[in-house]
Amino acid sequence: MRFRTLGAGAALGASAFAFAHYAPALPDSAIARPAQQFGLPFAGPPGPDTWMLGQGYGNTTGAYRQRRRTYGNLQGVHAGLDFSAPCGTPVRSIGDGTVAEVDGPHGSPPHNVVINHAGNLSSLYGHLRVRSSLRVGQAVKRGDVIGQSGDSQETCISAPHLHLELRDRSHQRFFNPLPYIRADWDSLSLAGSFGRGYQYDLNAPRRWQTPESQPEVRRGGALLNEFARPWPPAPGGGR
Ligand SMILES: [Zn+2]
Repeated sequence: MRFRTLGAGAALGASAFAFAHYAPALPDSAIARPAQQFGLPFAGPPGPDTWMLGQGYGNTTGAYRQRRRTYGNLQGVHAGLDFSAPCGTPVRSIGDGTVAEVDGPHGSPPHNVVINHAGNLSSLYGHLRVRSSLRVGQAVKRGDVIGQSGDSQETCISAPHLHLELRDRSHQRFFNPLPYIRADWDSLSLAGSFGRGYQYDLNAPRRWQTPESQPEVRRGGALLNEFARPWPPAPGGGR
């Protein structure tokens, strides 16, 4: 078993360090294929007073700008979905499963929950406002409340949102949640409130430019977005 440090970068804005050890990544044959088998992490319709898709999964401009720091251990991309929501919004399990971790070492502080699902998939709910009252090992049903949404900066003013990831159970592979979750992604993507854009490499300007076409991420893999001709450029003109 190898040990790796899950530092502030991989923890998506963490200020504290935690340690996690990882099993080998599971092969495709062990992982359920996407079949819209999950639901959204909120009840009720989206809207400016409830919840909206804020930042997509993948090669976002925001992730590009932080590719060597916050997302350096995630190949430089945003390995989950951000849903804008007022602090305290009930967060729901996207599927039936078992609570695997409450405030575990897998990122997205200040509080998080991991649910294990059939097909060796795990969902992570990050930036929760308070510690979830769930117990590890507890069974949950799709739609059960697993916590309250919070703010990655812990102010409930700066960046209130839920960070949702879909991983393999080894926590080595990160999947685009869109084909796994039944939702009107076209409408949600059009109405998003921040970070909608994807980073271009002008040498391959169509690559990773739609919500559906984003790459899988492997923990610790090489950066995917060290683009030769990035657009927009990083602030200050650097790369
Ligand atoms: Zn996020």
